[in-house]
Amino acid sequence: MGSPSISEEAIAELKQLLAGPKGVVCTTHFNPDGDAMGSTLGLVQALRKLGHDAHAVLPNIPPGFLQWMPGYAQAVAADKDIERAEELLLASDVLFCLDHNTPDRVGPLQQALERHPLKVMVDHHQDPSDMATIMFSDTASGSTAQLVFDLLVALGAKHVIDTEIATCLYTGIMTDSGSFRFGSTTAHTHRVAAELLESGVRPDQVYNAVMDNSSEQRLRLLGHALSNRLDVIPDLGVAIMALSAQELKDHGFKLGDTEGFVNYGLGIRNIRLSALFMEAGEIVKISLRSIGDLPVDLLARTHFLGGGHRNAAGGRSEESLDATIERFRSLLPDFLNEHGP
Ligand code: 5GP
Ligand code: MN
Repeated sequence: MGSPSISEEAIAELKQLLAGPKGVVCTTHFNPDGDAMGSTLGLVQALRKLGHDAHAVLPNIPPGFLQWMPGYAQAVAADKDIERAEELLLASDVLFCLDHNTPDRVGPLQQALERHPLKVMVDHHQDPSDMATIMFSDTASGSTAQLVFDLLVALGAKHVIDTEIATCLYTGIMTDSGSFRFGSTTAHTHRVAAELLESGVRPDQVYNAVMDNSSEQRLRLLGHALSNRLDVIPDLGVAIMALSAQELKDHGFKLGDTEGFVNYGLGIRNIRLSALFMEAGEIVKISLRSIGDLPVDLLARTHFLGGGHRNAAGGRSEESLDATIERFRSLLPDFLNEHGP
């Protein structure tokens, strides 16, 4: 049940690299989501069981709804302890880069990551950079966690997957597939999920821990955004949501509170592109979602210093919230003409 994207050459190289006990760090992207956390914590625990001295080093702490995950308590976050994070990272023999494919995605860890001489990329985003020595990059894989499962199978290490590791990988697969509903969900995704259930994952508990963990204020922020800050452009099939720093503050915003908001726009009939703009410190953070063949990663990469997947991408802008949205709107006619149906 391997993945076609896992090249035998790369696996052979990795096997050789991990033939004896190694110091390993697994890292992931800034503002880690369920897949970033699941793939990283799952791989760290698997590598430990294989005899390596493995550590998870995160650019920053994840939102509360991911802090229950097995192995999180042992992870080091750079926003809490940059010295320890850099020290661990640079002392490692091998650095696994999970769920990202460019050095700028790891925020405060970028310099250390760039200095590390032996990186292994495990990722499913478009347009991988050549930052790693060994690459497992599969844009067809719905999640990096699924790819980690495939990798463990290819390494002949499936037997190390216990309930904790399976729970991490399942969480990554569940969150990145929108609970098994996005187009990236394949028969293979379900087969991997089935094996993880056989390893003891409780799907109800994972779903509940991740999805039913809102504060009251988060739900009210969603209500406010939907009632007052959602702009629907029926002629273009576009929905735009915007949240200022003040609005976020008024609703006691915590990191991760706006996760999933951008998807609501796509719930409207005939909407094919949904965008969320929110002020975050000095920048405006942008989330884009689309249906069908509309490549929002292209829009993010070309105009908003970002990237991602065809149907889910993100980026940022250093202009004001209003100026960013205005620029976005001005790009739409050409973009939709060129890539629309
Ligand atoms: P989200 O909208 O949930 O923040 O991100 C959606 C997708 O876009 C994720 O796959 C994420 O990795 C990617 N993405 C979000 N923000 C950025 C960014 O600033 N740069 C790049 N390269 N990708 C991003
Ligand atoms: Mn992912």
